[in-house]
Amino acid sequence: MSEVLKVSDLKLYYSTMSGVVKAVEGATFTLNEEETIALIGESGCGKTSLARALIRFLPRNVAELSGSVVIDGIETINMSDAEFDEKIRWRKITYVSQAAINSLNPVIKVVDHLIEPLVIHFKTPKKDAVAKAAEIIKRVGIPEDFLWRYPFELSGGMKQRVVIALSLITNPRVVILDEPTSALDVMTQANILNMLKELKDESKLSYIFITHDIAVSSELADKVAVMYAGWIVELGPAEKVYVDPMHPYSKGLLGSVPRLKGNTPVTFIPGTPPSLINPPKGCRFRPRCKYAMPMCEQEPPVVKTGQGEYVRCWLYAGK
Ligand code: SF4
Repeated sequence: MSEVLKVSDLKLYYSTMSGVVKAVEGATFTLNEEETIALIGESGCGKTSLARALIRFLPRNVAELSGSVVIDGIETINMSDAEFDEKIRWRKITYVSQAAINSLNPVIKVVDHLIEPLVIHFKTPKKDAVAKAAEIIKRVGIPEDFLWRYPFELSGGMKQRVVIALSLITNPRVVILDEPTSALDVMTQANILNMLKELKDESKLSYIFITHDIAVSSELADKVAVMYAGWIVELGPAEKVYVDPMHPYSKGLLGSVPRLKGNTPVTFIPGTPPSLINPPKGCRFRPRCKYAMPMCEQEPPVVKTGQGEYVRCWLYAGK
């Protein structure tokens, strides 16, 4: 499988009135063709900031964006917004943002939402763009005649399918899905997840799947990156991280998911995530970690656990 995304030592800081927020620090991972990486962690841990750094949807108060982001073989980190727009966004990578269904204008027909990126960014003639929209809407399981409806006439699940269709219409290599099913009922969630799996196989897509719902992420993920306070604290194959996580935070996160089988009690992690303006000295998880030891007052090493896999914790240093 070929590599479509390589992220190395990515940093994203914001400047605020209270100080510099270290939203993402040292993020490193690769994504291959037809692979899904799930980014999981509590709200505010930096998942969406990481996604926005990749797609370059950034606010004005960015204090630092550094590291390396290679998308389909092209280094993008130092590109101007105009160059990124011209070469990367829509062409190589697209983004389904949180609550994306609310971004559909209720008084603009579905067809006009779908053809907009083709007409504006690719200068596709309108007739050809409508034909492509008809093709893509069927692929996401919506009858073609719904193109001529308004978003307010669609159910939540259908609107979610429309925004996914929008993210696919330009044939990207990578699609970032930020909480794509969190506003949907469980049956619709299952339908959308199955559809995403089929689309991935049909179109050789790669997904970055962002969620705090571990059960949902396990449906799609090949790899899992667990984020805590701006760090990826563990990165590994899904079958390993979901079953036998290494990092104390991953263990706590997985332990908080109710199990249908067995009598394993649900556990929780005491305390709350730290401020990203003044994170704790050393390990950022230290105030909540039951394994904390004096050396955890120093920044933990990134310990390699396999090809492209790692855990950021003193417990594994030197092993
Ligand atoms: Fe816990 Fe120390 Fe590992 Fe941090 S480095 S997770 S405090 S054991």
